[in-house]
Amino acid sequence: MSTAGYYSQYGGAFIPEILVATIQELERAFADAQADPAFWPEFRQLMASYSGRPTPVTFAGNLTQHFGGAQIYIKREDLNHTGAHKANNVMGQGLLVQRMGKKRVIAETGAGQHGVATATMAAKFGLDCTIYMGAVDVARQRPNVFWMERLGATVVPVTDGSQTLKDAINEAMRDWVTNMDDTHYVLGTACGPHPFPAIVSYFQSIIGTEARQQLHDITGRLPDRVYACVGGGSNAMGMFSGFLDDAGVELIGVEAGGEGVDTGRHAARLASTDASLGVAQGYKTYFLQDEDGQMRETHSVAAGLDYVGVSPILAHHKDQGRVRFEATTDDEVIEALRLTMQKEGLIPALESAHAFAQAFKEAPTLSPDQIILINQSGRGDKDIFTVADAFNDDPAWQAFIQNKAEQYRA
Ligand SMILES: *Cc1c(COP(=O)(O)O)cnc(C)c1O
Repeated sequence: MSTAGYYSQYGGAFIPEILVATIQELERAFADAQADPAFWPEFRQLMASYSGRPTPVTFAGNLTQHFGGAQIYIKREDLNHTGAHKANNVMGQGLLVQRMGKKRVIAETGAGQHGVATATMAAKFGLDCTIYMGAVDVARQRPNVFWMERLGATVVPVTDGSQTLKDAINEAMRDWVTNMDDTHYVLGTACGPHPFPAIVSYFQSIIGTEARQQLHDITGRLPDRVYACVGGGSNAMGMFSGFLDDAGVELIGVEAGGEGVDTGRHAARLASTDASLGVAQGYKTYFLQDEDGQMRETHSVAAGLDYVGVSPILAHHKDQGRVRFEATTDDEVIEALRLTMQKEGLIPALESAHAFAQAFKEAPTLSPDQIILINQSGRGDKDIFTVADAFNDDPAWQAFIQNKAEQYRA
């Protein structure tokens, strides 16, 4: 592929020859949709009626007072149907599937959130749906597998390799190559071969477009800093795209620092020096890989940030100096979550809590006439087991889990 789909040196479409026609078909459908003045209003209407958009911007008055620095505002993507910003992407791609006249969708999923979102979209649009998921993930994410199957999807456990997300992606690609005539691959984040980073960022841009207008309506001005967590980069791209042209707004992407970026046990691609440039899974970006190009094990308390690659568009924005990248550790994230629950009654997903943790470090250094905006990419209900483990301070909970385990064994 030529320069199309490149963001300086990042991106591209490194795909098997056999997929070229299908990718071109998708590129055309996307370009047609973007050029159709009725398409974006149709998307917004769908998200309004099905997913409660526009999601609000909430003033976090108690946290603001607690830190005594910048005013803290929160964009509430947790209020979407299925509990996160992922709904924006899957519903948007669902509309593209309808335009292409395809009847079947497939997707990869790690923790299962994207699988549930895709299965939801498939049910709503009457599409066949197959979800590829590493066998290890199937075992540790039972509740999501349960809901995907109830929603009508077929969940295929992948037993290759480490039996996790990257193996699920490979298997989904294999399916697509075999069934591309009637099948669309619903990629879950702003990664993968062109045009996926562009498509996913386009649908997620609804976050930033709304948030910019809402914050301006509330405060009469734009924020000084905007924070979003970065897994593959879709909620961050969505939020940042509303502010890219506002030179006075600093954009901060927050990656998973895991046990610390100096321990090797993290998923910081752009905020550490551990990642290197490579080509994998159809695109070129920074990957956490060893000298032979083998993908390394990543680690994070938040499953949705636990990924070896990162959006080529964000890698480009880093080089341009437009987005600053930071990493927060598991411990800092748990503490930020505790504080947010107790001060504001909000339960951010562990992924989102990374953005909160970094914002909390910086808020006290700013003045009360400054404004920061945090993207709460999802809700934390799904994290109940992890959070209970991390807090580890509730004997009644331990007894409950023990009791359930015994019931299952009986
Ligand atoms: C999946 C997920 C993420 C990470 O994905 P991005 O593509 O980086 O946005 C972040 N937050 C939540 C709540 C998620 O479910």
